[in-house]
Order: sequence, then C-alpha cells, then structure tokens
Amino acid sequence: MNIKVKISMEGSQAFEPNKDIDSPNRNIAPISSEINENKKLVVGGCQLSELAKKYGTPLYVFDELTLRSACKTYISSLKKHYPGDSLPLYASKANSTLAICAVIASEGFGLDAVSEGELLTALKGGVKGENIVFHGNNKSQDELNFAYKNNVTIVLDNYHDIELLKNIASEKKPAKLMLRFTPGIECHTHEYIRTGHLDSKFGFDPDELKSVLLELKTYNWANLTGLHAHIGSQIFEVQPHIDLAGVMADALKLAQEIGHPIIDLNLGGGLGIKYVQEDNPPSIEKWVEVIAGAVVKACKDRNLDLPRLMCEPGRSLVANSGLTIYEIGSKKVVPGVRTYLSVNGGMSDNPRPITYQSLYSACLVDKPLNTNFEKVTIAGKHCESGDVLLKDFLLPSCESGDFLAVFGTGAYNYSMSSNYNRIPRPATIMVGKGSSELTQRRELPEDLLQLDVLPDRFIPKN
Ligand SMILES: *Cc1c(COP(=O)(O)O)cnc(C)c1O
Repeated sequence: MNIKVKISMEGSQAFEPNKDIDSPNRNIAPISSEINENKKLVVGGCQLSELAKKYGTPLYVFDELTLRSACKTYISSLKKHYPGDSLPLYASKANSTLAICAVIASEGFGLDAVSEGELLTALKGGVKGENIVFHGNNKSQDELNFAYKNNVTIVLDNYHDIELLKNIASEKKPAKLMLRFTPGIECHTHEYIRTGHLDSKFGFDPDELKSVLLELKTYNWANLTGLHAHIGSQIFEVQPHIDLAGVMADALKLAQEIGHPIIDLNLGGGLGIKYVQEDNPPSIEKWVEVIAGAVVKACKDRNLDLPRLMCEPGRSLVANSGLTIYEIGSKKVVPGVRTYLSVNGGMSDNPRPITYQSLYSACLVDKPLNTNFEKVTIAGKHCESGDVLLKDFLLPSCESGDFLAVFGTGAYNYSMSSNYNRIPRPATIMVGKGSSELTQRRELPEDLLQLDVLPDRFIPKN
C-alpha cells in the first residue's frame, strides 16, 4: 500500500509519504496513516472524523502499529548491532498509562519510572519489577519503600537516596542499584557541550564518582549492578552518544576496579523525532547501531567485558504513534496581522508549545488533500494569550465544526497535561486494524470536583 498523508505546513505543502515504516520517529504521522476513497484521513484503519464523532474531542489517538513498530525496531536493532545482552527501557514519563505499559511490556521492553504513580502504572500494566528502574533527584522514603518492595532497580542520584535506603535495605535483601552520574555532556536538539562539571540537578558529579563508589562498597545492603547517564532530549546528532559511551566505559572500569560487579550500562534516551518537515532525526536503527558500536569499541579499548546495554527511549518510542483531534470553533481575523482559529483544547492537553515554543504539524482530517491554503494561527481555549498550538500555519480553508489532527502528540502531551481553567482531560483511544478501543476515558467536570473538600462551615445555611 502506498501510504500518503498530506501534511500542510508553511513553506512546504507537498505530499509526504511515510517513508520510514521501521522508524516511526522519522515520519510526522503514524505509519498506518492513509487517505481513503472519500479522500479522508484514516489511521489504524479508522477514519479520524468518525472517531471524533464517536468519542468526542479533543481526543488523543494512539496507533498500535506505530508503537509496536518502534518497539520492534529498538529490540531487533539491539540484537543485530550489539553482541552482548541488552534491555531497552521505555521512559514512561513520556506517556504513562496502563495500555502503553502493557504494549511495551509485551514487546519485551523494560521501563523507567520517576514516581510512585509511574511505578504503579507500570506494575499494573504488566511490567515486571526486575525490568523497571526507578529514577529521581528527590525520591521520598515512601517511594523508595514501594520500589524496594517490588524488586525495582533503584537509580542512586545523590547521597540523600543512600541515607533513605539505609532505613530499608538489608544484607538479607540488598537493594539493587544503579548509579547515575553527570557525564559532562549535555545536548539540546542541535548542539551539545562537553564540560567537567555540569550545572545539573541530576546525578553525582564526576568528581564524586570514586568516593561514592568506595562508600557503596562498604555497605552490605547495597548491590550496585549498573551505571546510568542521560544527556538530553530531542537530539538529532549521534556524536554526543559516542562520547558518552567513552565516559561511561571509564566509569565502568573504575567501578569494577573498586570491586563492584557492574553488569548494566544505561545510556539514557534522547533520540529526536520529526515534528515538522525540516526535522531530520537519525533512524532508530542508526541510533542503536551507533551507541552499540561505541560501547563495544570503548569496552574493547579498555579490556572490559561487554556489559548488558540499556537505553531509555521515551519520545522516539511513543510521540509519532499519537495524534490529537480537535474541533475548530471560533475564528477571529485581525486585519493585516493574523487569523486566529480556536480549537476546543490547547495548553492543558498540549503544554509543549507554550512551554518550549515547540513546533507541530497538522491537517484537516476530512480535507487532507485540499490545497486552497490560508495562513492561520491555531489557538487553544485557555485564558492565556500564549495558548497557541500552531502559529502562522498554512491550512486549507475550513469552517467551524471541522476536525483538525495535530501530529506527534504521543509523547509529553497527556503526561504533562493539566486541568488549567478546570478543563477536563481528553479521552485516549488505541486504534488498529480498523477498530478502536478506549484506553483512558474522558475526564468529566464532576471528576474535577472529586478531590475538593468543602468544610462544613462553608456550606451555605438553609
Ligand atoms: C527524559 C528521560 C528519558 C527519555 O528521554 P527521551 O528524549 O524522551 O527519549 C530517558 N531517561 C531519563 C533519565 C530521562 O530523564
């Protein structure tokens, strides 16, 4: 099947075939996207406008095929390019729900979590405790107790973690630990820096590494099995991860000399995705090939046995599986300046544009092929002037009631959503093979009142 999706964007309105089915992060739309005989947009075999009518809008739509394809590519690329053991972990902060945890677990992924809520979601979603790592720069005693009880690997981020673990771990049941340090490499999409000290709240400073490794050696309750570093997100370059492999192999050598039986090397996440036409991230396989090759070489150069290789993709695993359908409502033309089209969601379901000035691509779900473009700004419905999802964007002319799909919203949308203006969160559905299933029901205004408590003395008399 020749899959074609019209992605309209400023400066570029060509047909965009989904050219890399194995690497969803290189396609704006889900890989199952197609235009049906009525010239309407279909994902997972479901016409999006019908889903919008059935489930209401805004609606988060998840394409199961795209998600599974990304998982399979990570797993098969690790097998192909890394001669040792490997375990990819899903960075669940990107989108933590039972259904996604269940899918990634069934594909052979482990998971990383940063709170008791994410841990609980993963465990209930079927991820085994021994395949979960628990991050965080300020874990609470309760969170650590929960992780320890469920045999989760705890990523030591600082001395506070060590102090709290002394209260629970014992020689009889040692805590399984990884150590996170700041490798002196930090990335932002197109540039990266290398320094001795990073101004970061996460992990041990490289200067502390030796002393903390020596200290851990003296604790019979501590079982240090891995090292971890994460250098950034939405990264399009591969060189930073090559450098990272060298820094981590040095740390591995040091830890083994001190006597820690380290078996896991976790290089974090960070692979970028295509949000707009100009974005050109490496493929999943290329990224895995590079980090695997770099770890193999770094270990060989230092005469080290190959560790189990871990990585923690978040965005590149889930972002392009997801899209959000909105209904277009009001229109405001500011003559000579801008035309605003408002949708029935915005910064509460997608805070990335207002937070990071992130760019997105979109199309009209029932007019994906129309070319009578108008320049519009898609605004949300919240009481913030900055609540804009797409600015100065070319969209075929449309009217109130039309449905708009915004692509690439599978990561860091639901997970960063809020109830700002007491707007309920959208429902989420999973689509595939022509059918759709609810995976998260829509929040209702009454849900928002459920945690409010009105003290008796405030209740109006009579
Ligand atoms: C955010 C994060 C990830 C995932 O990053 P992506 O860019 O979404 O792949 C992985 N590991 C850690 C520790 C993180 O903080």
